Amino acid sequence: GTPGFSGAELANLINEAALLAARRNLKAIGTPELEEARDKVRWGRERRSLALTDKEKENTAYHEAGHAILIELLENTDPLHKVTIIPRGPSLGSTMWLPEQDKFNHRKNELLDDLVVAMGGRVAEQIQFNDVTNGAMGDIRQATGIARSMVCAWGMSERMGMIEYGEPEGAVFLARDIARARNYSEPTAQQIDEEEKRLIDEAFGKARHLILSHKDKLDAIAQALLEYETLDGNHIKEIMEHGRIMNPPQSPKPPTP
Ligand code: ZN
Repeated sequence: GTPGFSGAELANLINEAALLAARRNLKAIGTPELEEARDKVRWGRERRSLALTDKEKENTAYHEAGHAILIELLENTDPLHKVTIIPRGPSLGSTMWLPEQDKFNHRKNELLDDLVVAMGGRVAEQIQFNDVTNGAMGDIRQATGIARSMVCAWGMSERMGMIEYGEPEGAVFLARDIARARNYSEPTAQQIDEEEKRLIDEAFGKARHLILSHKDKLDAIAQALLEYETLDGNHIKEIMEHGRIMNPPQSPKPPTP
């Protein structure tokens, strides 16, 4: 459950779990405390006190359902861990997926599917409400970073070839390597822009096609999110297979003060 965690993050996780166990008057740290601490360290602290309007909740439910359904439909994605409309960190909802093990390589097909998943939130909002929000800001940044690295650093655009364009400023890390010092001509810059745009546009088109052709499942996931707030990967699988949740989670409790 902690692939890719650094030693410091693991130490932080154990620390958070100990605090939770103490708060619950437990004699030892158990699996629930470890899981909750892991989610907090990995995806940020839950902000249950944030008061959202019904409209915002519905929008968030469709946004997250859009990510979740694409993770299920695409082949080269990591398993879905959890989808939630409880605000966490800077976002109003989260779709969390986890690789099954530590991963140091990214295959091109995985990156292309990651781009499609990143489009899912915005696409679902647009299909359902015929309007969009700024909730896709993080998705747009992530997708831009992936597309840029694919074209400029990883030789994954046939048109641009196996050439490094620009020099990375600072550490090269997936999707964070956005700032690059330029060392190429103006026409090349234009081609790079076109290639990045093409990757994103194709991902957007694929996301739209997939979600439109599974609109009933999108609705079912969004409604289940509004009802239960948090679903795990198995619930989404059940909705995809049977159209509804066979083993429903507990209904959300009112927040503890
Ligand atoms: Zn999103």
